[in-house]
Amino acid sequence: MRTVQVSEITENIKEMCIEANHYLSEDMEAVMNRAAKTEAAPLGRQILAQLRENLEIAAKDMIPICQDTGMAVVFLEIGQDVHLEGGLLEDAVNEGVCQGYTEGYLRKSVVGDPILRENTKDNTPAVIHTRIVAGDKVKIKVAPKGFGSENMSRVFMLKPADGLEGVKNAILTAVKDAGPNACPPMVVGVGVGGTFEKCALMAKEALTRDAGSHSSIPWVKELEEEMLEKINCLGIGPGGLGGSTTAFAVNVNTYPTHIAGLPVAVNICCHVNRHVVREI
Ligand code: SF4
Repeated sequence: MRTVQVSEITENIKEMCIEANHYLSEDMEAVMNRAAKTEAAPLGRQILAQLRENLEIAAKDMIPICQDTGMAVVFLEIGQDVHLEGGLLEDAVNEGVCQGYTEGYLRKSVVGDPILRENTKDNTPAVIHTRIVAGDKVKIKVAPKGFGSENMSRVFMLKPADGLEGVKNAILTAVKDAGPNACPPMVVGVGVGGTFEKCALMAKEALTRDAGSHSSIPWVKELEEEMLEKINCLGIGPGGLGGSTTAFAVNVNTYPTHIAGLPVAVNICCHVNRHVVREI
């Protein structure tokens, strides 16, 4: 049994909120640089150049890469041989988010009640997903999510007979409907299988997988590649102003499901697709 002080989790989450909002992750930088070379439309190339310039200025002057610094989504994988000490885990995560958004001067975008809509003023609470895994480590993923793209996300409760074609139609429908509103080029996270909530969670977590990586399941890898190609033929393009780079990546996660259903969730993220991973 290994003891981890929850204050260590707070400190890491504080730093990760600031890092995610100021620097594009390496995988996103790689796909953006590649797109800058392959984008077919002159205006599309111009938009990509502006996005890259914005990132450079943000890193140099320590300003956020987007004004919407997002709602903090935190994935925790906790080894079952870890003993957490020093307070409640959820409080420690929220304290990290509070400190990160306050000390990092990040926009506070969370309202405490979805109808009364009073700002909580410290960007808490985070949306926290916790999983108990083997080992004695704590893996933390912080993925601040902007709502321009979040609002364009969809869940489709398909019938088994809809099959793979139904899944493809669902992905393309969500991306077409999102159009320029999701701040393209997008990263498209997809969950296939499970239940209503499980497929949404898979789609969200798929966004934290490296852009440009692929599923180890052959048919899923083929689906990711085919969907990226089809999405990039839609013509939405960088900034929604036309071009051949509507998405940087399509990441699909799957899970067993019920004999009577085929749930599909499409969680769309924008060109910043913030995600930072650490293990303690
Ligand atoms: S969707 Fe992304 S790029 Fe667009 S405003 Fe929100 S965080 Fe910024």
